[in-house]
Amino acid sequence: MANARFHVPPPINEPLRAYSPGSAEKASLKAKLAAMMSEEIEIPLIIGGKEVRTGNLGTAVCPHDHAHVLARYHQAGASEVAAAADAAKKAWADWSETPWEERAAVFLRAADLLAGPWRDHLNAATMLNQSKNVFQAEIDSAAELVDFWRFNPYFAERMFEDQPISPAGVWNRVEYRALEGFVFAVSPFNFTSIGGNLPTAPALLGNTVLWKPASTAVLSGYVIAKLLEAAGLPPGVINFLPGKASQVGDPVLAHPDFAGLHFTGSTPVFQDMWKVISHNLPRYKSYPRIVGETGGKNFGFAHPSANPTAYATALVRGAFEYQGQKCSATSRAYVPRSLWPAVQAKLGEQLAAVKMGTPLDFRNFLCAVIDKPSFERIKGYIDHAKSHGAEILFGGGCDDSEGYFIEPTVIRTDDPHFRSMEEEIFGPVLTVHVYDDNKLEETLDLADTTSPYALTGCIFADDRAAIGHLSKRLRHAAGNFYINDKSTGAVVGQQPFGGARASGTNDKAGSMANLMRWTSLRAIKENFVPPTDFRYPHMAEE
Ligand code: NAD
Repeated sequence: MANARFHVPPPINEPLRAYSPGSAEKASLKAKLAAMMSEEIEIPLIIGGKEVRTGNLGTAVCPHDHAHVLARYHQAGASEVAAAADAAKKAWADWSETPWEERAAVFLRAADLLAGPWRDHLNAATMLNQSKNVFQAEIDSAAELVDFWRFNPYFAERMFEDQPISPAGVWNRVEYRALEGFVFAVSPFNFTSIGGNLPTAPALLGNTVLWKPASTAVLSGYVIAKLLEAAGLPPGVINFLPGKASQVGDPVLAHPDFAGLHFTGSTPVFQDMWKVISHNLPRYKSYPRIVGETGGKNFGFAHPSANPTAYATALVRGAFEYQGQKCSATSRAYVPRSLWPAVQAKLGEQLAAVKMGTPLDFRNFLCAVIDKPSFERIKGYIDHAKSHGAEILFGGGCDDSEGYFIEPTVIRTDDPHFRSMEEEIFGPVLTVHVYDDNKLEETLDLADTTSPYALTGCIFADDRAAIGHLSKRLRHAAGNFYINDKSTGAVVGQQPFGGARASGTNDKAGSMANLMRWTSLRAIKENFVPPTDFRYPHMAEE
């Protein structure tokens, strides 16, 4: 081993490509999209570095063109979970002992491969299988995942620097060991970058991982698994296990070597998994780490001093980008009556210019929602609003004949506890509550207490004192709080992401706080001159 202290290159955020008309980058991505549209691939499981086929197949389709099959993927069951746990254990022996800078190099290399030669592939997979427009794919599957893979090694190095004090004659040290056992990474459909981060953050710290991607995002997950292989990740460190939720989840959570859950997804699923873990606790060799980032019901709160154009723009982007399928999407707006006419006019003007359709057409702002159950659930909220006296101000149309399309929809209600003001919808639906300017305090209480979540929220105000007041009043209402900016779009290294209350454990993905959860400290005290007599001075009296 080299006798030197290495430093991770200080990361900067990956620059975004613009894909402007006529650009080479646009032509290159379009070619990759066309190639992937013209093939149907088979996706195996990857266990111990080997491809495994179960014959129990699921299909990966385009949500905007649901008859189009992109891939058929094999699904794992209990025996593949057992094989993956064995493979993870075998890999752990070497990987947990591998010098940290060599592990870091794998992910730094993965970042550069993704920033360069793999970029089109992962962006195209995300656009086609998760129905993201080109910009939404670029900020997610390219930039954010590159950032996770560059910033996490940098944060890990800083974490390792944290060492105890040593008085004379003693050298105290702390080492950052891998957890004993494997980590279970369970990722959601809506961010390819989260799919990449959930298994790799624990792996960076020497852990081995079983990774179950969401069934509606298997294609991008597979591209990530292959990319990591190309970057030199040893077999068995991350085992790729697409499959039905409980058929994979139940045997994993029952395994004695289960040492941690790295989850992102909905609140009810996380709560159920936590209950299963509690039930299984006596089986485990150690107390599992549980990290989960979950749902949100994010607010956009305007003060009477707010700029109505900036606020309306933040609502359009915050509520409707990626069809509102962001945990951070703005889904309830509180607007003072004095400001509402200007806000409504701007919302209408901007929404009239929004285009919706296939991600293959780069002009589209919205594409389709992820699948039939999501389509039905979101439509259910719109139907409920129509039949329960709320006003549909914009949109409201739903059509799943070709793809799962839902128009960007704005509901207005006088009831601040209306269903669509309280529950996570996870679709392109924004509900607006117009409040009397003299009821600011009561409305702040509503914004704070209406939902069990506390993920993100934004306030708009030009009055400096109001900014301070609103920030204080909403201190615990959001883990990511934005002032005069939309509630979405956190950037790794800039706004560490995660919410409190029912929104998760708030361990902040892409930060040192998250990495701390995947390591088990060993404190080492070395005494250079150990005592040779058991007696203490006070014992010499008389
Ligand atoms: P989901 O909860 O339906 O699924 C998440 C993952 O859990 C999937 O891989 C799914 O297959 C798996 N799963 C479900 N039941 C399981 C079980 N019993 N055992 C093992 N795995 C199981 O969520 P989704 O629809 O994929 O994603 C949307 C949700 O994720 C929204 O609620 C959104 O707010 C949340 N989300 C939160 C964040 C955040 O950082 N807070 C980020 C992205 C998404």
